[in-house]
Amino acid sequence: MKQVYMDHSATTATDPAVTQAMLPYFSEKYGNPSSLYTIGRQARRAIEEARQLVSDLIGAKKEEIIFTGSGTESDNLAIKGYALKNRAKGDHIITSSIEHHAVLNTCKYLEKNGFKVTYLPVSKDGIVNPHDVEKAITPQTILITIMHANNEIGTIQPIEEIGKIAKEKQIIFHTDAVQTAGKIPVNVDALGVSMLSISAHKLYGPKGVGALYLRKGTSIEPQLHGGGHERNIRSSTENVPGIVGFGKACELARERLPRESNLAALRDSLIRGVLEIKDSYLNGHPTKRLPNNANFRFSYIEGESMILNLDMKGVAASTGSACSSTSLEPSHVLMSIGLRPEEAHGSLRLTLGRENTQEDVDYVISVLPDIVNKLRMISPLAR
Ligand code: PLP
Repeated sequence: MKQVYMDHSATTATDPAVTQAMLPYFSEKYGNPSSLYTIGRQARRAIEEARQLVSDLIGAKKEEIIFTGSGTESDNLAIKGYALKNRAKGDHIITSSIEHHAVLNTCKYLEKNGFKVTYLPVSKDGIVNPHDVEKAITPQTILITIMHANNEIGTIQPIEEIGKIAKEKQIIFHTDAVQTAGKIPVNVDALGVSMLSISAHKLYGPKGVGALYLRKGTSIEPQLHGGGHERNIRSSTENVPGIVGFGKACELARERLPRESNLAALRDSLIRGVLEIKDSYLNGHPTKRLPNNANFRFSYIEGESMILNLDMKGVAASTGSACSSTSLEPSHVLMSIGLRPEEAHGSLRLTLGRENTQEDVDYVISVLPDIVNKLRMISPLAR
């Protein structure tokens, strides 16, 4: 049976060139980068080369990259680290209602610890209004954290505009760019951010390695205390193979960025084909969306049943974010764009990647109508 992977926002396969680059660091080049002898220094050099490659992808300086264990950790480090370090300046944080749980739950944790958080609403297309950000700022506001693009519906936020507001009001601005790095241009100066999170496994790198961009002069409280690695900000013996792989993945992502935007044509062909199905709709903004993201809703049926039926046809898809796939709660993102719970439950996310072809898209378009019809026939919700 044909196999089609269309869940690239959940994770991507590690690029063969990335795996090749990592391999020696598991075996012959296994040194601890803090060791002074040859294989230690070799590992240190490899980390610093990777740091350069990661910084090049986002237009940062090498010294402004802190390696972490994931995108989740980068978000935690940025938000808790900045809030806890700068509490004396104020206790108010602004975010959006459609952030990834790595940001939302970190904000909730800070609320329990005395901080005040404003969760801004989004439009029915899933866009944060920069005027709302401006209006929410108080003299107590110390941090704004708004994601670059949403992982479920793919909407790209007006980060540059929010960045200008943050700069004018002298408030630190963090963005979660986990879903954008390697897919659309990400440049920390153009975006106007002081902190930015990325994760290797979303851009054809290995799982379990991320990075936080920390603009020079931005001071944060470490969240892991230990031997003082990563400029005393993130103690832990470095994941050398992972970091080397991340660097290689960023190098490849930079080279391939122009080709990634070609995915938009494939995405649009997928959207056109799927919307031929009766009572189907596109979630998110029609144009301000990631080139690889298509998110639909189908009346009268449940996303989970669609995923299982697609799986039986060899298609890997998702209802929303992989992290919340075990939850029975309707997606907070889909609820925030104004969907009713039953509409949110009937959603399907298809996210394209490098290896997808028009043939894959045609295959999905050919199997989906029967699945939808079959599920509607047994649905108590269908007329
Ligand atoms: N932020 C966003 C927008 C994501 O999509 C994800 C992963 O799904 C994360 C953060 C978490 O990244 P990681 O899986 O590296 O912890």
